[in-house]
Amino acid sequence: MFTRHYQVWPKELPKTMTLPHTSLFTNLAVTAMRYPDHNAIIFYDAPLSYRRLLAEVEALAGYLQAQGVQKGDRVLLYMQNSPQYVIGYYAILRADAVVIPVNPMNRAAELEHYVADTRARVCLAGQELAGFISPLIGETDLEQVVVASYSTYIDPDTDLDLPAEVAAPAWSKDIAGVVSWEQALAAGHTPAAHTAEPGDLAVIPYSSGTTGAPKGCMHTHRSVMATAVHRVFWNLSTVNSVQLATLPFFHVTGMTGSMNGPIFCGSTSVIMTRWDRTTAARLIERYRVTGWTNIVTMAVDFLSNPDLGKYDLSSLNMIGGGGAAMPEAVAAKLKQLTGLDYIEGYGLSETMAATHINPVARPKPQCLGIPVFDVDSRIIDVDTLEEKGPGEVGEIVSNGPQVTIGYWNRPAETDAAFVEIDGKRFFRTGDLAYYDEQGYFFMVDRVKRMINASGFKVWPSEVEGLMYRHPAIHEVCIISAPDPKRGETVKACIVLTPEADGQTTEQDIIAWCKEQMAAYKVPTIVQFVDELPKSPTGKLMWRALQEEEWKNRG
Ligand code: AMP
Repeated sequence: MFTRHYQVWPKELPKTMTLPHTSLFTNLAVTAMRYPDHNAIIFYDAPLSYRRLLAEVEALAGYLQAQGVQKGDRVLLYMQNSPQYVIGYYAILRADAVVIPVNPMNRAAELEHYVADTRARVCLAGQELAGFISPLIGETDLEQVVVASYSTYIDPDTDLDLPAEVAAPAWSKDIAGVVSWEQALAAGHTPAAHTAEPGDLAVIPYSSGTTGAPKGCMHTHRSVMATAVHRVFWNLSTVNSVQLATLPFFHVTGMTGSMNGPIFCGSTSVIMTRWDRTTAARLIERYRVTGWTNIVTMAVDFLSNPDLGKYDLSSLNMIGGGGAAMPEAVAAKLKQLTGLDYIEGYGLSETMAATHINPVARPKPQCLGIPVFDVDSRIIDVDTLEEKGPGEVGEIVSNGPQVTIGYWNRPAETDAAFVEIDGKRFFRTGDLAYYDEQGYFFMVDRVKRMINASGFKVWPSEVEGLMYRHPAIHEVCIISAPDPKRGETVKACIVLTPEADGQTTEQDIIAWCKEQMAAYKVPTIVQFVDELPKSPTGKLMWRALQEEEWKNRG
């Protein structure tokens, strides 16, 4: 029986805990009752109190219900970090509906997939994104887009540099099926009683899991609650904490660390729509930020600011993150600057962020951490499923309250993603790791076919699927290639059709991809080859190609 990790359990924490037996929306309702005038959000110098946040959530929930949104209906949330993201997310939950967070970098083909898969009839969209989603109105199940203009929530006198989409004037276009945020709130609808139970669906973030096309990870109010509470117990957040929200809310790490966690604690989130190292430093100083959840590339960029010494960063008491390994040298520089150890965590969309976090008082470098309360995480042999001991490499499998109940509408993939051990259902992560004698987990490699480009997960089979639409492409294999900045990048090995050979260039392919898919998925390296390596059964031997690539590039 695997119990070793409990040896390092921080003494002050319980090994298990009783989660609030309420819906996620209730966290906001309770916090707004306790601290109505406390700032929930600060957005480019404009504060938004918990009282106002709750009032706008109620108004938007009423509007959604008036549009026919019912319990369990899926509503797309296609927006960048903003007050409207938080209002939209909690309004969907307040209406007993289900949030479908959509990566704001997604474009036409990807959006079609989300709408078709979820059959969502309403989408809440940022105004810079409305043009990508509105063509689907009438062509699909989508009936309405509610457009948010970020500029309406900023302080007009702010001296901070504004990203273009935040500075843009409010939406004024007239498109059938598209209404403005202000129209929706002003409609004055009161929502019906909130009836969501902890076991009801709350959020469905998309991930490709270990194979195939993006699929929805079904999370209930209970599974989201399980990681919202981490802020208090692991990151020592309180009502006086101030979080700098720089990770995107559509992804589980940002969603948990910078939105659901702070709302559970009643703390304040200082939201940035786009990453900017100078604005981040100014905001930390100006609002005495205490916690910052980030990712390697942001930390590296922050540290490379030649003017960093000018800013008072002394309010920070927690810097951490997950999603990709934090190099020791970067963590050391952060420590030199702030005196703080980097608190790394590990998890997936399927586990609503963290299953493992380093204990604040005794973190280890380049380490995923130890399993958080109620998580039973083990290492198993990928083929025999036999359990491994300390120091032995195998696949991480996890059982805990934050684990997805399964993939939306995909029972076969759901079955394949779980394994039963000791009568419990464990999620297979597709990540290879070992744990040491003290129960700290260390990642070694991945079994699954995924590219981790500065924390953005690229699923080769999805990119290949999109690229096969190009008439010049006969065959394509997407692999990971080393990249000094992003850690990994996307490389396409392509066999052109005989007609296109000599006619199509690498640049043509890249330019075409930029139109078709989110920027982080676009191959940065394209290589034309005569043929792709295949197994005797005709299976693409992507791993061989990838290993060759990493060897050649040192
Ligand atoms: P996502 O579903 O986008 O959150 O991606 C989950 C994947 O991110 C995991 O399966 C890991 O491969 C990777 N990941 C998460 N946390 C870490 C970490 N601390 N170090 C290295 N890889 C990580």
